[in-house]
Amino acid sequence: MTNSCIFCKIASGEIQADLIYQDELFVAFHDLAPQAPVHVLIIPRTHYSSLLDVEDNSILSGLLATAQKISRQMDVAESGWRSIINTGQDGGQTVMHLHLHLLGGRFMQWPPG
Ligand code: AMP
Repeated sequence: MTNSCIFCKIASGEIQADLIYQDELFVAFHDLAPQAPVHVLIIPRTHYSSLLDVEDNSILSGLLATAQKISRQMDVAESGWRSIINTGQDGGQTVMHLHLHLLGGRFMQWPPG
């Protein structure tokens, strides 16, 4: 945990969020500013500043496996959904704790902005 990281604080329960799933390694909660009817953020409990910092492949596979699980829980598995990991400045990352956006419940345009 890093003291100033808001997602670390959500994972530890220090800051409240609208949690929809948690296990030993991952936490999922609704995004504060949803961009689709379903907009969930999935984070590892361990602090990684971005995708670039993860050396443990089990975290990467676990993140995607959790996204599969959440897509079923949120009832978008069959209709389809998009997973996004913004990385770094040009990637549009604003919170420096690895997170996967799971978006669904409407048709997703391509290309993204
Ligand atoms: P990114 O731009 O990829 O770093 O995404 C950060 C996301 O975190 C944005 O979609 C924000 O709306 C969301 N966010 C920031 N703070 C919170 C919070 N306290 N609870 C839920 N979502 C948050």
